[in-house]
Amino acid sequence: MANPCSNPECRRPRRFWRSLAGSRKDGQGVELNGQWYCSLSCLEGGARRVLNHLLPETHARQQPRHRVPLGLLLLSKGVIDDHTLRAALNAQQECGQGRLGDWLRRLGAATEDQITKALSVQWSCPVFPLEKHPRFLECAGLVPLPILEAARMALAHYQPKSGSLYVAFADGIDHSALRALEQMFDCRTEACIARESALRQALQQIRNLSRPPEIVIDRLGDPVEIAHEVCRYAEDSKTNEVRVVSCDDYIWARLGGNDKPSSLLFRITGRPVSSGHGR
Ligand SMILES: [Zn+2]
Repeated sequence: MANPCSNPECRRPRRFWRSLAGSRKDGQGVELNGQWYCSLSCLEGGARRVLNHLLPETHARQQPRHRVPLGLLLLSKGVIDDHTLRAALNAQQECGQGRLGDWLRRLGAATEDQITKALSVQWSCPVFPLEKHPRFLECAGLVPLPILEAARMALAHYQPKSGSLYVAFADGIDHSALRALEQMFDCRTEACIARESALRQALQQIRNLSRPPEIVIDRLGDPVEIAHEVCRYAEDSKTNEVRVVSCDDYIWARLGGNDKPSSLLFRITGRPVSSGHGR
């Protein structure tokens, strides 16, 4: 029997695998991103390879594709006029922060519903009334809070049977987060736009829930160190399933599958400052 361990440098001799009579036993070894490793030391090698691949992704955040600017959309719909747009852009520029939509609302030039609708046109996805569908509370524990907050998103609804995950954003869609969710849960994601106030309130409610363990580690940025730490936690928690993905500023390792999940988040610093995702 060939060595079924995914570590090409696995030291276990061939006769060891023959002695297993053709099948790996349940509860033995650890699966990492769908690949099986016979031991923690083989897992560590595998984790290093995965991280070598993922870390550059966290540094090279995708530039948002060109979209019709929000101000222009509102202008073309007749919601605002040229004078108001200029005033809002000036205020935004002088202050050096804030989304254009917020400035337009502050100036009394557009309502939250108008901004939400324009964002849904800008991002070509539907508006989802998060405030009317509290099912986001049921799937709030799937994703660590720091990731929900960094991506400014809430999971609106999850259908494990069809493998569909509906994700609500209020500032525009974070494609890095969607990709991470798809890899983490082997699912298809559908993005939608929620009102800013509804998302803010949803995140507040999510913060008040009890959550699976989430540990944020700031000081590590090297694949060797992160792989070592992931394996240490895998050993402590006696898990036989680990998934590692890159999501925005984090490497997110989820241990324990769906039975008893816990998350390790490695915040990766030293990347170029991003202006957000297309506000
Ligand atoms: Zn091995």
